[in-house]
Parts: sequence; structure tokens; C-alpha cells
Amino acid sequence: MIYLDNAATTKISSEAVKAMEPYLNDMYGNPSGIYNLAKASKEIVEETRQNIADAIHARPENIFFTSGGTESDNWVLENAKQRGNHIITTQIEHHAILNKCKELETAGAEITYVNVDRTGIVNPYEIENFICKDTSLISVMFANNEIGTIEPVAQIGKMAHQNQIPFHTDAVQAFGHVPIDVEEMKIDMLSASGHKFHGPKGIGFLYVRNPQELLPLIYGGGQEKGKRSGTENVAGIAGMNEAVKVAMKEMKARREKEIYLRNYLVNRVLNEIPYVRLNGHCARRLPGNANFTIAGIDGTSLVILMDNDDICISSGSACSAGSDKISHVISAIGVPEEMGYGTIRITLCSENTKDEIDYTIHRLKENVKILRRR
Ligand code: PLP
Repeated sequence: MIYLDNAATTKISSEAVKAMEPYLNDMYGNPSGIYNLAKASKEIVEETRQNIADAIHARPENIFFTSGGTESDNWVLENAKQRGNHIITTQIEHHAILNKCKELETAGAEITYVNVDRTGIVNPYEIENFICKDTSLISVMFANNEIGTIEPVAQIGKMAHQNQIPFHTDAVQAFGHVPIDVEEMKIDMLSASGHKFHGPKGIGFLYVRNPQELLPLIYGGGQEKGKRSGTENVAGIAGMNEAVKVAMKEMKARREKEIYLRNYLVNRVLNEIPYVRLNGHCARRLPGNANFTIAGIDGTSLVILMDNDDICISSGSACSAGSDKISHVISAIGVPEEMGYGTIRITLCSENTKDEIDYTIHRLKENVKILRRR
């Protein structure tokens, strides 16, 4: 099998599995206890908090564990709604943001969805124009999960700070893949998720610059400084810890390999399959992301044919797969509706090989021919 859907999820690394094992077996103590067994659990939780903080140039007391990106995003938006009635975001956010915004709108919030250009980039000045006295949050994703475009986060952060508006970024696709510095980029809140960088599913975190301004999400036994109660997912945290350490150590090498393979794939697809466009920005994009719109085919049918060849790719984002509308991201960057259905996303990781990419291109060419003949 060739796995090329790393934006949906990544394969958990053997190091992460190994790091989790003791906490699923003998080291089962509840981190809230005071005996040694419990202390071992507490220690790994705090070590992970420190490692995550170091990875983004933050302090450990500013990191809160959550179940992943969706929870972190929802938390930030719910908090913002309690502090003001206007939130600015973009049209190309993940549904973890967009659907929570919809829910807040039904509760009376006013949400501005700023548009992006044809490459998926949002203009910080455009965001600034929408700021009003009720604005309690600017939320712009670090990198898009479908087309891979990396947003001008540092510029948005600078502008948000000048206007004294908290700035949140959904970095679920970016954390562990590209360098992030919350100080330099003036990020006030950041969401991330373990399973997007070879860690386990169901664990993630939220970075918060001013925790005193963060309202609790879950009430109970007072874990996570009383902001997010519930016994910690210790094994998940241990697995994410290992994934963070490897991601930081290997980031440069992984990026270089992914960019090489991705560029090879993109160039060959554009040269060898007629009537294909690459979506997203050509340079400001996630290393492993390629997103194509192929004229005269249906993306979902292509995904199924590729699956028959044991190749996993996606026809859009995992979360909107199965819906029969064209993706909101593809539509926001101006791909006409009739063409949008021909969109596929191929997201690789550094463990993919050139042979795998060659075979994928070979099957893509054949399967596109088959679909175009239908
Ligand atoms: N935000 C983005 C940009 C994503 O790509 C995803 C997952 O695909 C999420 C949020 C949701 O993260 P999780 O699966 O950890 O809930």
C-alpha cells in the first residue's frame, strides 16, 4: 500500500508507540495522585508540556492538553464569544472553526469570513479593515489542510497586536512540519494535534499567551489548572511527546525530502497529464502538499480507482469527503464549480519513496485516461 493522505492523518511512529506502552501497562497511575506510581504519570505530562513549549518558544504554563485540533479550535472560539460579539476569520478555515462559528452565529455572534486570493492567501490589511470595537478575536489558520497554502502569520500577528486584538492560529497542519515561534509571530493562541505529525490520535494542545483570559472548557476535578478538567490522556501525551521530539529534531531533513518528492510529483503531473492545474501557492505551501484540479474527471471516482491500485489519496479534506458539494476552499480560490469536482489532494511524508511517487504518477495517468473515456 502507498499512503499519500498525510494531511488526513499520519502513521504513528514506532518511537511514539514505544513511548506510550509503559503508560498503557504498568505505569497506570493517575497523575493527580501523590504516590510514586502517580508521580511517574505526572512527570511525563509535565515533560511533554515543556517540550511543546520549547518547540514554539513558549512557557509550559501556557500549554493546555486537549483531545486534538477540533477541541482546541472550539475552545478558542467559545472563549472569544464570551468576551465580545465579533470574530474575524477566513473563508478557508477547517470545519472545526467554520462549523463552530456557525453555531456561535445562531447564538447571536457576528462573524466576518475574510476572503483569500487565488493562491489561498489572506491579506492582513483586509482583516484590519473589518476590526470594530466588538472584535474579540482574529482566527486565521497557519496552513490550509487542503491546498497547503501557508498564511502570512507573522504579519497578521503584528497587525493584531497593534490593534490589541487576540490572534489565534489553527496550526494543526503546520506544527511539527514548519518552524513556529509564538513570540516572533505574535501568536496569542495556537491549536495543534498529535496525529498530524506521527503521534497518536485523540490528543493535542492549545497554546494560550494569557491563560488568565481563558475561560474553562470542562469543569470537574481541576486538571489543566482548572481550565480543562478530566484525568489526563497520559499514554496519548507520552506518544505526542515522542512525536514532538522527533519532529523538531528531524524537521529540516524531513522538509527537504518532502519538498523534493512533492516538486517531482507536481512537475511530472503538470507535464504529463493534460489540463491539470495546481491549486494553492507555488512557494508558500506545506512541504508535503500537492492539490490538483484535473479537467474532465470526478475527483472521488479517481480516489476510488487509485484505491483499487492500493494508493491512498484524497478528493478534498477528510472531513468533507463524502459530501457532494465542491470544497469551500477550492471554491474560495476561484476554481469554477464544474471544474472543482475534479480536485484531488496528495499529501506525502518523508517516509515516501521516489519509487512510490513514480508508481503513483503511472497509475494517475492511466486512471485519468479511463475516467476521461467514460
Ligand atoms: N484544523 C485543521 C487545519 C485540520 O486539518 C484538522 C484535521 O484535519 C483539524 C483542525 C481537526 O483536528 P483533529 O482531527 O485533531 O480534531
